[in-house]
Amino acid sequence: MNLYRGCAHNCAYCDGRAEKYRVDGDFAADIQVKTNAVALLRKELGLEAAQQELFPPARHGGFLLLGGGVGDSYQPAEARCRITREVLELLVAHGIPVHVLTKSSLVLRDAELLERLAVSVGAAVSFSISTADDSLAALLEPGAPLPSARLQALAELRRRGINGGIFLMPVVPFLSDGPEQIERSVAAAARAGAQYVVFGGMTLKQGRQKEHFIGVVGGDDADLAVRIDHLYPGVPAGRPDWGNAAPGYYRRITRAFARAANAHGMPARIPLALCRHLLSAQELSVVSAEHAQVAAEMAAYLR
Ligand code: SF4
Repeated sequence: MNLYRGCAHNCAYCDGRAEKYRVDGDFAADIQVKTNAVALLRKELGLEAAQQELFPPARHGGFLLLGGGVGDSYQPAEARCRITREVLELLVAHGIPVHVLTKSSLVLRDAELLERLAVSVGAAVSFSISTADDSLAALLEPGAPLPSARLQALAELRRRGINGGIFLMPVVPFLSDGPEQIERSVAAAARAGAQYVVFGGMTLKQGRQKEHFIGVVGGDDADLAVRIDHLYPGVPAGRPDWGNAAPGYYRRITRAFARAANAHGMPARIPLALCRHLLSAQELSVVSAEHAQVAAEMAAYLR
């Protein structure tokens, strides 16, 4: 579920700024709140009283992801609006597992609900970081709690028996994608008790996303602005723009990640032991195949 559109975390690289997602206005200031989200969720899950009489809710396994491609579910507005909390309360009441993906330590407010899910049906909380360096993060993610606060929150949730890990994505070209920086981020995740680190490089679509990013990080550094522009050359008009970097870039940074993950014994995917019970037989075979492919890729980088 995306419960908000727009995000006051204001990450410089945020993909949600790209025109294709149609988030109008000032992305970091004009936050749209989906005030009917809980009612819609009840309906979709078949939890309305009238629906239950006619069609008792069927459980198909699976889980609900509280994420936010165009707005973090624990961004500052959530402290006041409490929609994410209401969703969690609904999940607790009806025994539905959850995976939260956030950049905010505000999730600790709901630790007790997450604990109840963890012991009954399952809960995991993943924190997204682009660097473990607080001063760099203050530039890249000016509206989000610092990475040190996110890592402390992860450690606290892990102490409370809730599964969790890190999405180290995106590492930021020329700023947090060096082998030493990636190693420091993986090491910090390991110290916080992460059970996995999922890794990814940055995409940058032409238009609003790229202009904003270069304006933030290249504002005082013309050379950096040019290097970023070259790394993300865009695609010819009429082709779909996924914002991919120039060939070879993702392989280079993934090699560095593979070494760091190997050094810290860190899985690059959420281990099946944590989520097997949520998957149908068919889903399990797809996920297992993907895990095997990633493990083979990681091993190849170490050779
Ligand atoms: S937290 Fe996520 S949605 Fe919010 S600005 Fe950052 S990248 Fe975008």
